[in-house]
Amino acid sequence: MEHSRQNGQSDWIARSLKSVWHPCTQMQHHESVPLVPVSHGRGAWLYDADGRRYLDAISSWWVNLFGHANPRINAALKDQLDRLEHAMLAGFTHEPVIALSEKLGALTGHALGHCFYASDGASAVEIALKMSVHAWRNGGLPDKREFVCLKNSYHGETLGALAVTDVPLFREAYGSLLQQVHVIASPDARGAREGESAADVALRAAAELEKLLAERAGHIAAVIVEPLVQCATGMAMHDPVYLKQVRALCDRYGVHMIADEIAVGNGRTGTFFACEQAGIWPDFVCLSKGISGGYLPLSLVMTTDAVYQAFYDRDVARGFLHSHSFTGNPLACRAALATLAIFEEDDVINSNRDKAARITDALAPLAQHERVRHFRQRGMIWAFDAVIDDPQQAQTFSRRFFTTALEHELLLRPIGTTVYLMPPYILDHEEIALLAGRMHTVFEKVLKG
Ligand SMILES: *Cc1c(COP(=O)(O)O)cnc(C)c1O
Repeated sequence: MEHSRQNGQSDWIARSLKSVWHPCTQMQHHESVPLVPVSHGRGAWLYDADGRRYLDAISSWWVNLFGHANPRINAALKDQLDRLEHAMLAGFTHEPVIALSEKLGALTGHALGHCFYASDGASAVEIALKMSVHAWRNGGLPDKREFVCLKNSYHGETLGALAVTDVPLFREAYGSLLQQVHVIASPDARGAREGESAADVALRAAAELEKLLAERAGHIAAVIVEPLVQCATGMAMHDPVYLKQVRALCDRYGVHMIADEIAVGNGRTGTFFACEQAGIWPDFVCLSKGISGGYLPLSLVMTTDAVYQAFYDRDVARGFLHSHSFTGNPLACRAALATLAIFEEDDVINSNRDKAARITDALAPLAQHERVRHFRQRGMIWAFDAVIDDPQQAQTFSRRFFTTALEHELLLRPIGTTVYLMPPYILDHEEIALLAGRMHTVFEKVLKG
């Protein structure tokens, strides 16, 4: 039995590498980096076909909030499966999509009471961008069709989303296909000059936005931001005052504000929506990733009455004629409803505060490490930058860390030389201690080379 399982596993790897083109991967690296054949998951753990376990400290690319095979989400999905797996949402509706839209709208105090659905994050970003331009056009302002994004932004990898993504490595090959956008300073608190606070950096960055809007607002449709944490480019954190300023400037110059909360929403930064910490609502919020508890592909854009009304007309062409085959999929919506129910039943936003404090305490020795810079935390996100002087070592740091972490039963995948944690919200005391201790060990091993 043991023997045949092992054979099965090595067979999986070979078959996968032959037929599956893995995402965000130079496939040749799998000549040295292991591919992990996952057989099942439970709680914060993933298990491979050989029975080895890995603590999923990055929530499987930031999607899994309440653990793998969560009994409550499983039960909701099993129930939904016997009722309705899918029906088209044009001309039809169903309970899960209605209930989810109502619940999310209520979480914004009905400031953003209209939900438009898609299946992945990039598509939600595309929808917000298109809706913004189309709303201005319907309002008699067809020149407003340019976008503003931040330095080191990440909004997804379809062509429209990639246009507002400032990651040279991801853009390089496709530059000629992408719309020109305005890239402005990031409020990243690590950019503080001598004597500056995080709020000072934020205000300096906002001043750059104001300068652009003063010159160009007549042509600009929207500013898109990742509120509080620019995750994909290395967990760059900023002061909430930045969002307050962006909101005020967008109001003053007549420009939409799009909050891409795909990574930072769903309680990740300590409030359900990150924007709550700035006391503002944008014109559009994009949600995905954690919204379905990490179960099924689901994304959505929430917007205001004003935007909704800009499309409401007898004329078909003034409507928002965008669609995806699986728009509002009932199973995905049920997973999201079960996820929101856990937030309510377990008072997750509040109990995460204690959990976060405990994790920060456990990481204190690592935060003091002489090769750690800019140790930072917001809500359920922790990150630090490893000090690596040798460029060759820095180049391979992430892959070496990933491999070494796996050997210590951890799933951790640094971004460049930034090591981060984005764990599911269910770690117990023992798992927190294990994670912090082993992360320290892995870091030292990788530094030694
Ligand atoms: C992951 C992510 C996206 C893209 O979502 P996909 O589902 O991968 O297309 C967009 N914006 C942010 C902030 C993200 O973290």
